[in-house]
Amino acid sequence: MPQLPTPEEMNVYQNAEARFEVAAQKLGLEQGIYKYLKYPSKEITLYIPVGLDNGALEVFTGYRVLHSTVRGPGKGGIRFAPDVSLDEVRALATWMTWKCAVVDIPFGGAKGGIICDPRKMSRGELERLTRRYTAELADWLGPERDIPAPDVGTGEQTMAWVMDTYSMHHRQATTAVVTGKPIELGGSRGRREATGRGVMICCDKALAKLGMKKEGTRVVIQGFGNVGSMAADLMQKAGYKIIGLADIGGGLYNENGFDVPKVIDWVSTQKKPLEDYPGGGTKMTARDVLFQPCDVVIPAAIENQITEKNASQVQAKIMCEGANGPTTWQADAIIDAKGVFTIPDILGNAGGVTVSYFEWVQDRQGFFWRESEVNERLLDVMENAFDAVVQYAEMHKVNNRIAAYMVAIDRVAKALKMRGIYA
Ligand code: GLU
Repeated sequence: MPQLPTPEEMNVYQNAEARFEVAAQKLGLEQGIYKYLKYPSKEITLYIPVGLDNGALEVFTGYRVLHSTVRGPGKGGIRFAPDVSLDEVRALATWMTWKCAVVDIPFGGAKGGIICDPRKMSRGELERLTRRYTAELADWLGPERDIPAPDVGTGEQTMAWVMDTYSMHHRQATTAVVTGKPIELGGSRGRREATGRGVMICCDKALAKLGMKKEGTRVVIQGFGNVGSMAADLMQKAGYKIIGLADIGGGLYNENGFDVPKVIDWVSTQKKPLEDYPGGGTKMTARDVLFQPCDVVIPAAIENQITEKNASQVQAKIMCEGANGPTTWQADAIIDAKGVFTIPDILGNAGGVTVSYFEWVQDRQGFFWRESEVNERLLDVMENAFDAVVQYAEMHKVNNRIAAYMVAIDRVAKALKMRGIYA
């Protein structure tokens, strides 16, 4: 029987809190500011009635948590998944605040989620669910209030419905209320690839720091959604060797490397299970793929994949977190002791929200940039953020994750002190 992590270890909000506590203490955050930043500013629970295709009426539970608007409007995705909970959305909203601060973009943090299984719902049901959720939140969202984006189980089409519903309620076409939209509707070039590109930029920087070359560097990626598949594709084109892949159904490990565009075609166009990809090498669970021999491991699926129980099995020299919260805080010390160079989620996957920021800027200007401009600016933001975190870690003798939290919390705390408390 595999040993399962404790429920406490699996609670993502406790994971987010634990790192916050350490970073806040090391920063010597004063008590009032500490309390202010620890708690979200607003939590909304919604019960969303939706008529199903079979004529029945179902009521779904959804959330939107606004953690902070200290540095700008709330920003963060909407997740559709069966295991969404208020604790999870709260943790994800808090991480968005730190993520936006690490890359120094002028947003606070927010997150939304609906408990549902989008794979078992029709397009019409998903549209009605999205529209009713957005309509209920119409007074809380807005380009200057709170700006959603895609996350697990949602995508460009979902964002188009959010944009349309909000626009209908406000009687004006408001593209900047949501990011990750289709390009035809005010989306940004390069947004689809942005999180994967950000992962690659961080890996490039880590390699340079460790004196390693890209060519032939062996990469394992868990997750084959927007983040994992784009990271795999871009990194292979750049010279990395992708030897392990996994999605929700299972994993594959092939020392000879994958032809990533062919795998994307198999999974996305032909809609076939990744684990049945012909010539894919050794089949294993999605979890096990993380612990195979490789140089770089990229957990880009969901939370709590690397825990106290399995962290010692990580074989990579570099870990770049494409997902939010894939490593529990109990696992951090084990990963550190192994000397793995860690690029924490709030830095590693920040490419997505960075290009979301560019999308918001372009929508508000009504002037759209070339893809090369988007990518150039993304490179600049990610490289600066990487350097800031790594330098901070070295200077203050903390690991990269705590350094990222400290850089972020310090920026938010400074802004908060400047604004003062309106009471
Ligand atoms: N859901 C993504 C994240 O967790 C993107 C958020 C955004 O673009 O606002 O970073």
